[in-house]
Amino acid sequence: MSKEKINIVWFKRDLRLKDHQPLKRASESELPALLLYIFESSLVNDPHYDDRHWRFVWESLEKMQQQLADQNLNLLIVYEEAENIFREIRRHYDIEAVFSHEETGIDLTYQRDIRMSGLFKEWDVEWDESPTNAVHRGLMNRNGWRKTWNSIMNQPQQDPDLNQLKRFSADDHLLNQINEEIPNRFKVPNEQFQTGGESKAWEFLESFVHERCANYNASISAPGPARSGCSRLSPYITWGNLSIRQIIQYMDQHYDDAPSKRGLRSFRSRLGWHCHFVQKFESEPRIEFENMNRGYNDIRTEWDEEKFEAWRTGRTGFPMVDACMRSVIATGYLNFRMRAMLVSFLTHHLWLDWPKGSLHLAKQFLDFEPGIHYSQFQMQAGTMGVNTIRIYNPVKQGYDHDPEGTFIREWIDELKEVPSELIHEPWKMSEMEQEMYNCRIGDDYPNPIISDIKESYKHASSILWSKKGSKEVKEENKWILKKHVKKRR
Ligand SMILES: Cc1cc2nc3c(=O)[nH]c(=O)nc-3n(C[C@H](O)[C@H](O)[C@H](O)COP(=O)(O)OP(=O)(O)OC[C@H]3O[C@@H](n4cnc5c(N)ncnc54)[C@H](O)[C@@H]3O)c2cc1C
Repeated sequence: MSKEKINIVWFKRDLRLKDHQPLKRASESELPALLLYIFESSLVNDPHYDDRHWRFVWESLEKMQQQLADQNLNLLIVYEEAENIFREIRRHYDIEAVFSHEETGIDLTYQRDIRMSGLFKEWDVEWDESPTNAVHRGLMNRNGWRKTWNSIMNQPQQDPDLNQLKRFSADDHLLNQINEEIPNRFKVPNEQFQTGGESKAWEFLESFVHERCANYNASISAPGPARSGCSRLSPYITWGNLSIRQIIQYMDQHYDDAPSKRGLRSFRSRLGWHCHFVQKFESEPRIEFENMNRGYNDIRTEWDEEKFEAWRTGRTGFPMVDACMRSVIATGYLNFRMRAMLVSFLTHHLWLDWPKGSLHLAKQFLDFEPGIHYSQFQMQAGTMGVNTIRIYNPVKQGYDHDPEGTFIREWIDELKEVPSELIHEPWKMSEMEQEMYNCRIGDDYPNPIISDIKESYKHASSILWSKKGSKEVKEENKWILKKHVKKRR
């Protein structure tokens, strides 16, 4: 008996039903379409990821399921390796085409895509991949990239007509062979984190464009105010609850009535940076594993696990560093400036190499986007070679961006009773003050892990600046600046 012919829409980090070219293409076909999301165990267990990510994905999928059910459609959600599930589907059905978005991700997903591409070719299955947010695969150079990006952002959205999509429900023979059991821990809500799903994403977008953008520029650097003053769209973009084109077009439509046009303009340029970094990562995926500029390979050679542990757990004795770390562990969010400060503290003041730290923060950031994350991490660590070297003083950052210590007190219980004038340098408290404010330094709250922040600054800056002028760094920079672009697949 011949097998039923079907198409498959493979959802990855594009968890929405609007402006979705793969879904649109499937809806225009005569064949029924199996809508599929795969929780891949290798990815779930990868050190970049944490349950917080899969909970966000689960919430997004649940909302999609509800919308699809209204149209009498279904989304098949499985917990399997991609190769296994496609093999199993193929045993039962004749797959004509697989529609999906291109993914610019970590090496693990890239290698998986190479394997899947090989399998689809072998099986004579067409793999129709659509670009994600105007990022191009296999681009030979980035000349004119910005112009093309702008033009794609202005093009009509690719909304599928779900009424047109030919209904498909998998038969029991297939369902009996696959694992639909999704770990319960992904399904337990946690109010500390942003909730996934298209409708939530729209709530954030609308409130930002109509109200919150008024405070954008003023609050962007301070960790407390940034939580409401910034758009907070990053997890929705990373997991594809919204396309960047949807955001830009909505913003343009409402630009004239927005409470801060300047705020919206700054925000718009950051959406461009987002895609720019992902595009760069598309051609330089090696920065997941090595310094962008290899001239810096020999600078941070010693490792100190105790110092790393103190940084990782928010127990360095520097209140602003510890508050930021504890807050991102608890909520998955931190604003740009404070992310940069955490990296700066690790790589400059503690003088520890970046890879382990970058894995730790990837796990914490609900919006973990490999292209931005690795570029930013290396920029802050000073290993890109072509950027200005910035070394943040964590004490000054505290005085500047949390002058009253409100954010610090929110995240560091031990410092709750310490008054504003002492909270940024608690080690300066006298014995009596420590007694009075219920915080014994070295006991309740750690002694600072670095005895002299000015010395650690000097040490880092002298090495980084002398390296920057060195022959090997300059040679590498020439190559980097040539915008050499390696074709991926
Ligand atoms: C070490 C480090 C790691 C980072 N890792 C990530 C990451 O994994 N994922 C991520 O989305 N952002 C990352 N960022 C960039 C930035 O911190 C976040 O995008 C931002 O804080 C998210 O909050 P928001 O959505 O309220 O931002 P908004 O200020 O409202 O910006 C809107 C959008 O623009 C993009 N954006 C903002 N700032 C940047 C930037 N500097 N570079 C590129 N795109 C930007 C994001 O998509 C963001 O959602 C990182 C920054 C640093 C310093």
